[in-house]
Amino acid sequence: MAEKQFCKACGSASFVQGEIGHGYANVRPVGKVFTNGIPLLLEICTQCGEVASFKVKDINKLEKFK
Ligand SMILES: [Zn+2]
Repeated sequence: MAEKQFCKACGSASFVQGEIGHGYANVRPVGKVFTNGIPLLLEICTQCGEVASFKVKDINKLEKFK
């Protein structure tokens, strides 16, 4: 279960999810340019646009970062 969260900028509890990544915008391990990265999921406040959290989409791929 996801915890209820509130926007740190305006206090709203209304969020939408967005995604950044695909190709060159993915998060990659530092120094490993040829490793496939992981797209990021964003929680965005619908009232003010504040991005409340960034999360990688696939935590299983974090093994490659170690
Ligand atoms: Zn907000």
